[in-house]
Amino acid sequence: MILPVYTYNHPVLKQRTAQIDDMSDELRDLIRDMFETMYKANGIGLAANQVGKGLSLTVIDISDRDEGEDPGQIVLINPVIEAFSDDEEEFEEGCLSLPDYRDTVIRPSAIQVRYLDASMTERVMEADGLVARVMQHEIDHLNGIYFFERLSPIRRTLGSGKLKKIARGQFEADYPTFPQSE
Ligand code: ZN
Repeated sequence: MILPVYTYNHPVLKQRTAQIDDMSDELRDLIRDMFETMYKANGIGLAANQVGKGLSLTVIDISDRDEGEDPGQIVLINPVIEAFSDDEEEFEEGCLSLPDYRDTVIRPSAIQVRYLDASMTERVMEADGLVARVMQHEIDHLNGIYFFERLSPIRRTLGSGKLKKIARGQFEADYPTFPQSE
């Protein structure tokens, strides 16, 4: 089932999400629906609070981006970034909760993340490149942080008009959103 993607400035996107203790049929359905929703929206990552669920869960799939690496479908439950590389990278990010808004974000180029996978097995992954980038963006969502909060004050100011438009529903999206665009 395709779920509506919650857009700026819904409060669920500013909340720190809750830890997940057990897998359940309901959670398995949510994970499946999140992948379906993400593919429909041509996204490569989606956090549970972006579909209105305040849970520490994100799904990622960068398979259709030509990067020469294909980790397949990634499910991160209760993820925590334990280490960041010193070297940083610039990359232009977008966000399904911020339609029409893109900007270049500087982030550490590699991370180590501890998480539970879809079978609730604890794992530690070292990631770099696009996967590390998407993981940082999505884990920020789970902590109530948008990518634009990582921008310099001047870049944030330049983007503030776009944010106002999104909050008013003045955007184009070819996937369902909540609230709907005008
Ligand atoms: Zn996002």
